[in-house]
Amino acid sequence: MQVLKFGGTSVANAENIKKVISIVADTVKKEKSIVVVSALGGVTDLLLDASMLAAAGNLVYLEKIELIEKRHNDCIQQLNVSNDDEELLQFINASFTEIRNLCNGLMMLNELTPRTKDRIGGYGELLSSRIIASAFNQQNVPAVWKDSRKMIQTNSSFGAAAVDFEITNKKIKDEFESNNDSLFILPGFIAADAQGVMTTLGRGGSDYTAAIMAAAVDASNLEIWTDVSGMMTADPRLSSNAKIIPQISYQEAMELSHFGAKVIYPPTIQPVMSKGIPVWIKNTFAPQDFGTVISNNQNAYAHLVQQHIVTGISSINNICLITLEGSGMVGIPGFSKRLFEALSNEKINVILITQSSSEHSISVAIDASAESKAITAVNATFTNEMALQQVDPLKVENGLSIVAVVGENMKSHSGVSGSMFSAMGRNGINIRAIAQGSSEKNISAVINTADVKKTINVLHEAFFETTYKQVNIFLAGAGNVGGKLLAQLATQIQLLQEKMHLQVRLTGMINSRTMVVDESGIDLSKWQQILEVSDKADLKQFIEKAIELNLRNAVFVDITASDLVASVYEQLLIKSISVVACNKVAASSAYKNYKKLKEVAREFNAQFLFETNVGAGLPIIGTINDLIQSGDRIHKIEAVLSGTLNFVFNHYDGKRKFAEVVQQAQDEGYTEPDPRLDLGGTDVMRKIMILAREAGEMMEMDDITNNSFMPEACMQGTVQDFYKSMELHETHFQSLFAAANEKGNKLKFVASFENGKAAVGLQHVDAQHDLFHLYGKDNVVLFYTDRYKDQPLVIKGAGAGAEVTASGVFADIIRASKI
Ligand code: ADP
Ligand code: ASP
Ligand code: MG
Repeated sequence: MQVLKFGGTSVANAENIKKVISIVADTVKKEKSIVVVSALGGVTDLLLDASMLAAAGNLVYLEKIELIEKRHNDCIQQLNVSNDDEELLQFINASFTEIRNLCNGLMMLNELTPRTKDRIGGYGELLSSRIIASAFNQQNVPAVWKDSRKMIQTNSSFGAAAVDFEITNKKIKDEFESNNDSLFILPGFIAADAQGVMTTLGRGGSDYTAAIMAAAVDASNLEIWTDVSGMMTADPRLSSNAKIIPQISYQEAMELSHFGAKVIYPPTIQPVMSKGIPVWIKNTFAPQDFGTVISNNQNAYAHLVQQHIVTGISSINNICLITLEGSGMVGIPGFSKRLFEALSNEKINVILITQSSSEHSISVAIDASAESKAITAVNATFTNEMALQQVDPLKVENGLSIVAVVGENMKSHSGVSGSMFSAMGRNGINIRAIAQGSSEKNISAVINTADVKKTINVLHEAFFETTYKQVNIFLAGAGNVGGKLLAQLATQIQLLQEKMHLQVRLTGMINSRTMVVDESGIDLSKWQQILEVSDKADLKQFIEKAIELNLRNAVFVDITASDLVASVYEQLLIKSISVVACNKVAASSAYKNYKKLKEVAREFNAQFLFETNVGAGLPIIGTINDLIQSGDRIHKIEAVLSGTLNFVFNHYDGKRKFAEVVQQAQDEGYTEPDPRLDLGGTDVMRKIMILAREAGEMMEMDDITNNSFMPEACMQGTVQDFYKSMELHETHFQSLFAAANEKGNKLKFVASFENGKAAVGLQHVDAQHDLFHLYGKDNVVLFYTDRYKDQPLVIKGAGAGAEVTASGVFADIIRASKI
């Protein structure tokens, strides 16, 4: 004999019920079957809504009942059972008359007892099972309806009654052993107490009905047919990466369901586990899919066993955390016993317990619906201690959830909790309490409900190597460099996914005119068109949205030169959103601000990266960091750091006008938006200051000597005035060139840092010098350190240009994503 259970979605309408009939028709040929069914999907909720509305005196309950009745009548009609089954129609009519009468009574009484709630709520299964039984017969698959209430006997704890297994098992055996029929249809969820009053087994309880039946008749197997193709590594509604688990032990399945994996109702496992009956989770809408088998029989299912450390991750919402704390609790036995007694006397289910090692505090997580009952009970128990201030007033926290990581293999691997908490920490997920089951099959953490989705995904990425780590980019600035970055991203995306398991998505972008945020990712092949027709740009809103979305592995990329954009970094870093800045404003602002951003980044486990601030894509800052972190010390830096100035002095020969060469550099995209920042030396000052800071020096712009070669007059007015004025000073530039040229030297705008002092200025460089052979817009940096004493460490290459800058930004994004 076998037992099959079909859930709410599987029997939601006539079309689905037909699928159920075809699945059962196939299997019943092989084995005698008990089929347990839920109410038509959503009907239990509607019935309970109607009863609550009625008790609250709200006439809308009538509409709800009408809706429920219509759904059942539609179903009957579409299944074509109405003509053949007069008895069914009578039953349906009588049921709705009773539901209306009961609700009418509630309206009069203005109250709803758990007993009446069960009586009304249980109608869903009564109705569905009768209709389905009739539909089987109509389709020539002979089926007999049986009343679960006559077999499953419970106590009178309405709402979630406890089963009396001794009586129940006997009744079930008696019913089926002597019965020669081969297919039975039963309502799930409902039972009866010793007086025959209808009870229910708790929400989602049809699974349990099926398990009770399976255990009592020693079924060969139990099949739970639902709307997913098995038990998954995470709730598929929360993580699109969730994968089917082909085989799972009873204990793991129990832990996952206890901590919220709704696919199976937690008490379901117990009866079948004690008999070793395998449980299959199957999909009514894809019956060919393999599904999941829950069993401890490693031999039978050896080929299905997967060697993951973690088997699955689940979560429960609506958690309230109650903390009992106080100096009077230390070392005194009996405190926890009294706390748990107080809760258990009120039948409050404790989901998680943590106790600090100093015994100074105990926290318990309970369902939020039991909060006020729990507070009253605990306060009453500890009135005296609270009055004597041995125990502090009870601390109650709301809006919480529990996330649990489950797996049998966790006990044989160290460091699981370390990985779990560091992955959460990196994403700014605040952990309120932690518990690890003594069997080490489960580690659970209490977190804010707003962080659940992010946490599930972060943990899924941390524990399932087949999962892609999703990186969410918010990009500010979509000009030349931005465009190149997105083009590079588009070509690399596939490779990043395959080789590095990174799923990089452009989630939001903003330029000076418009902005767009799309949680499902902006199509990289048409970002221009998308941005064009998007909302008006509003940086504040953009940032708020990025924070509110609370996505994992988020990186904000700033490719503007804007002060305003640089001013939002701290806000983002505090939310553990990493910042990749091409914009130099922040790293070259007051030292205090630079330092603060670095500290905030460290504190909130985010990255603040700005490699492209110096030498575009050249690995200069990364090299300093590597040197310093590995114990080297930097004594001296000598560098040509302005692609623009190098370009200008490489092209200026005293014949072509200086202004013309500057214009060419600007046209080719090497200069800052305001070229005076380059020509006047300010940009180079910023760069050498950033390098000095990264080398550990507390430096400000005022500390740097600028031996500017530009005539003061050129630096006044607008950019247009600047070009005109350079033309007027052409002879000045000619004489600079001539002085160097006649000695066979080149003009280089050199930045230096030595003995804590930095300076920038034009120098004559002879052919022997490392800086001499530097062409186009190239940059070069020479580091003299403890380890590179005689010959410097040299980094040289293109120091400007959209393509190389974009690639530097790209590398920072990958760096920010990898940890
Ligand atoms: P039924 O009505 O068939 O009993 P439920 O809605 O009770 O179905 O349970 C199935 C649902 O459980 C799935 O649609 C899925 O959204 C949810 N679910 C939550 N966690 C998991 C998980 N770990 N694996 C599979 N499904 C899960
Ligand atoms: N219909 C009941 C509920 O919605 C029982 C079940 O579907 O398992 O809770
Ligand atoms: Mg269910």
